[in-house]
Amino acid sequence: MSLLDGVDVACFDLFDTLIRIDTSQLPSVRWGSEEIRTTLPIVHERIFAERNIPLDRLVNAVRSMWATMRLELNREEGDDDERWAEVSAVEKYRRMLADLGVRDPDEVETVATAVADTHHATLVSAAHAVEGAAELLERVREQGVRTVLVSNWDHAPAGPAMLAQAGLTDLLDHVVISDAVGVRKPHPRIFEAALAPFDATPDRALHVGDLAVSDAWGAGRLGFKTVWINPKAKPWSEDAHPPTLTVERLADLLDHV
Ligand SMILES: [Mg+2]
Repeated sequence: MSLLDGVDVACFDLFDTLIRIDTSQLPSVRWGSEEIRTTLPIVHERIFAERNIPLDRLVNAVRSMWATMRLELNREEGDDDERWAEVSAVEKYRRMLADLGVRDPDEVETVATAVADTHHATLVSAAHAVEGAAELLERVREQGVRTVLVSNWDHAPAGPAMLAQAGLTDLLDHVVISDAVGVRKPHPRIFEAALAPFDATPDRALHVGDLAVSDAWGAGRLGFKTVWINPKAKPWSEDAHPPTLTVERLADLLDHV
C-alpha cells in the first residue's frame, strides 16, 4: 500500500527535510564560549564595517536579540496565536539595531532589510537539496498528488531563491512560509493555508517534516497523515498524534510512494 493512497496534497517542510544548509561553507566567529559557523562576518563586512560597528559588537547584539526572541518564540502559555506567532527577520533586526545605536527610522528600515536580505542570501548560497528530494517530489506529482512547501521561515522574500538554488522550484505546486502567514507550525492556520488552493481536506493530506511538534504533531492533530524524519531515532515526545510513518532519511520515502 502506498503512503499516497487517499492523498490529494502532500506537504513538505523545508529545512532539514527538503534542503540542508552546509554550514562548513560559512565563516566562523566566537559566540560566547564557542566558535560557530554563521553569516555574521559577511553581514558585518557588507553593512556594519562602514558604520564603524565592530564585528564583536554585532555578534553580541545578535546574541542578545536571540536570547529575547527564544523566550518569545518558545512560550508555554497563551492561545495558538500567541504561542506560535511568527516574528519576521526584518522585525528581529529592527529590535537589534536599537542595541547598536541605530535609531533614525529610515536608517533602521534600510539596515534591517539589508541585514535580513544579506543573511538569507548567504544561507541560500550554502544550501543544497537533500538526497532524493527532487526524485521524491517528481514521483508524488506523477501520481496526481499536489506538492506544497510548508516552512517555518522568518524571511519569505528569500523563498524563490532558495528553491531555485536547490533545483526544486518547478516541483512544488504551492509555497507557504510562516513569515507570510504570520504564524508558525504547529499553528493550524499554516496547514490550512497549504490546502486552501486545492480545496483539500486534512484527511486527504500528508505532511512530511523533521520536527516532532511543529511537523508531525501539528499536522497529525488536524487529521493529516504524517511522516516524521527522525535520523537520530529520538523517542516520540508527545502523548497524542504519533506519526503515521517514521523514517531515518527523506530518501527512505521512495520505498513508500
Ligand atoms: Mg525542518
